[in-house]
Amino acid sequence: MSVYVKETAERCLGCKVPMCQKGCPVHTAIPQVIALFKENKLREAGKILFENNPMSLVCSIVCDYDRQCRGNCVLGKKGVPVNFNAIEKFISDAYFDSMVVEKKPPKGKKVAVIGGGPAGITVAFKMIQEGYDVTIFEARDDIGGVLRYGIPDFRLPRSICDRYTKKLLDTGVKIRPNTTIGGSLEISDLFRDGYSAVFAGTGVWRAKTLGIKGECLPNVHYSMDYLVNPNGYKLGDRVAIIGVGNAAMDVARVALRHGSSSVRLYARSRRITASPREVEYAEMEGAEMIFGKEIVEITDKGPVFRTAILDENNKVVGYEDGLDQVEVDSTVISISNGPKNKLLLTTKGLQANEKGLLVTDENCMTTADGVFAAGDVVQGAHTVVHAVEEAKRAAEGMLRYLEKLEK
Ligand SMILES: Cc1cc2nc3c(=O)[nH]c(=O)nc-3n(C[C@H](O)[C@H](O)[C@H](O)COP(=O)(O)OP(=O)(O)OC[C@H]3O[C@@H](n4cnc5c(N)ncnc54)[C@H](O)[C@@H]3O)c2cc1C
Repeated sequence: MSVYVKETAERCLGCKVPMCQKGCPVHTAIPQVIALFKENKLREAGKILFENNPMSLVCSIVCDYDRQCRGNCVLGKKGVPVNFNAIEKFISDAYFDSMVVEKKPPKGKKVAVIGGGPAGITVAFKMIQEGYDVTIFEARDDIGGVLRYGIPDFRLPRSICDRYTKKLLDTGVKIRPNTTIGGSLEISDLFRDGYSAVFAGTGVWRAKTLGIKGECLPNVHYSMDYLVNPNGYKLGDRVAIIGVGNAAMDVARVALRHGSSSVRLYARSRRITASPREVEYAEMEGAEMIFGKEIVEITDKGPVFRTAILDENNKVVGYEDGLDQVEVDSTVISISNGPKNKLLLTTKGLQANEKGLLVTDENCMTTADGVFAAGDVVQGAHTVVHAVEEAKRAAEGMLRYLEKLEK
């Protein structure tokens, strides 16, 4: 949605107790940034944004701002709130390419970052600014993580990820693409080769399965596999999507834009985990939500559901008799993702919880000495800004750890 940024900035009241800032998971200094913007001090405003959140350019586009900054603006109580995300995007976009990232003198020590998603990028910027020699090891052919390989280009242009790649390289961060740690190389190899600390921001890339008959059929796919490269699929006209989270909304919109004419999303109850804005966009583009359907099997014809009886609180209280075979060309399962276990299987001392997520302490250090972690691989599937928030704390933990090593 295009917003006239100057106008929305003029409406900011500059509250003494800014609720917008409280509502932001990284507590962006919103009134201060808007005040600088109003004085045409774009560089100063951009610097504050970047130093607090290296992913501000991305967050200004993909954050759930209706629940965060915009959603907490006091003006929204009786009227139209300030669209800080539009102001943040304008400033970050103008500032990012010309920005010179300030760095402390070289420490003569190397750190390894496994995974080039928002968490890894945040740690890479923070550590190189502190004078460390940083290398990102990325399993895919470029960095960005979900930003490049999950969120569709029409929501977040790939060129933004390219700009991050360039900025990291220009700042001195080294990137080793197509390198999966836990494959041929392991974390112990990184320490052997002189990296003093390791950060793991490997995200959640293992599709959760339904565990039902028919999941291996050729017309059944998982959302992340599809979103990585939709051009590799022929979903056909009629598509059933199992799940109603943000990824499911992205699958629906991508499928519609690739020519599918009937796209329906199925959920057991009426609880939608996707943000209301994403649901609205998916519906506007033609996707349909079908509630009260619990999948029991998938056949060559499509998914088979039993129909749930929901009470007024949206609780499943029973099921109707009989089964409902839905006829579609393809079924896409989108019921969340968990972490892959490559690092766990190959790293001595590294522990995970029952969901396979890495266990960390208050410094974001894992149970393996000198190995830190943050983002989805610790929190489970979450959001960009939450990955940034934790990655900042992980970078601080790494600094404390490295300083102790130096003594
Ligand atoms: C389809 C979809 C849409 C989303 N939409 C939004 C949204 O609109 N707004 C929002 O805030 N959040 C959204 N999210 C969530 C958000 O993208 C994630 O929370 C965020 O990307 C997590 O960042 P991360 O750095 O922890 O992990 P990731 O982004 O997953 O990055 C992990 C990186 O590590 C690499 N990697 C993994 N294993 C290894 C290994 N062993 N060795 C080397 N590299 C490895 C991966 O290739 C990847 O590049 C969405 C998620 C999905 C799936």
